[in-house]
Amino acid sequence: MKFIVCNNYEEMSKVGAEIIISQLKDKSDSILGLATGSTPVGLYKELIKAYENGEISFKDVKTFNLDEYYPISKTSDQSYDYFMNDNLFRHVDIDKANTDIPNGEATDADKECADYEKRIEASAGVDVQILGIGQNGHIGFNEPDEALDFVTHKTALTQNTIEANSRFFESIDEVPTAALTMGIGTIMKAKKIILLASGANKRDAVAALRDTSLTTQCPATMLKLHNDVTIICDSEAYGN
Ligand code: PGA
Repeated sequence: MKFIVCNNYEEMSKVGAEIIISQLKDKSDSILGLATGSTPVGLYKELIKAYENGEISFKDVKTFNLDEYYPISKTSDQSYDYFMNDNLFRHVDIDKANTDIPNGEATDADKECADYEKRIEASAGVDVQILGIGQNGHIGFNEPDEALDFVTHKTALTQNTIEANSRFFESIDEVPTAALTMGIGTIMKAKKIILLASGANKRDAVAALRDTSLTTQCPATMLKLHNDVTIICDSEAYGN
């Protein structure tokens, strides 16, 4: 696991974006694993700039998102479907048919999870997976627990995550209490993983990555078993 410590959020976003930009320059039909939340927004802005400058194209790019609230309507402005359109897809030349996000509208959540895993399996595999990290060490919505799920599954959100995400909603009661998420095994199948972390509220989670132990109580520590993971964080998240 490699650490890149940046001075601030802007630098973290640029360093993360550079990795994706060079990936797309090397392989125009790359498959990207995408994340939502506040952290990757700056990286997506950098990708949009690179697209507008003619440096990269998303014409042949395919994407899989980490997770989606459940249940949620795709048109809800809190859905990750809406987030991806708003923060990336509508600004670039990606073919929407090449973007895939777990379907928060599915009537049968378990079937949607199994189908999502199969769709990833049937693809050529995620080239670069972008991750954020929860204050509690979650990746995707793989929450701290005694055991972790390997494949895409429906999960209950912890109170910590509901509270952390309530900032995006009118009130905490509106935050969905469940989600569909890639499992730890799904994430680990990506050829390369970059994890972004910014701000002092991520310091404990980043410290757990710097520590030598693996624990299901900090799901991101499982990434230590992967051979190509780069943690890109700002100095606030890294601590001293
Ligand atoms: P954030 O969320 O980027 O909004 O902090 C990260 C996460 O919960 O994985």
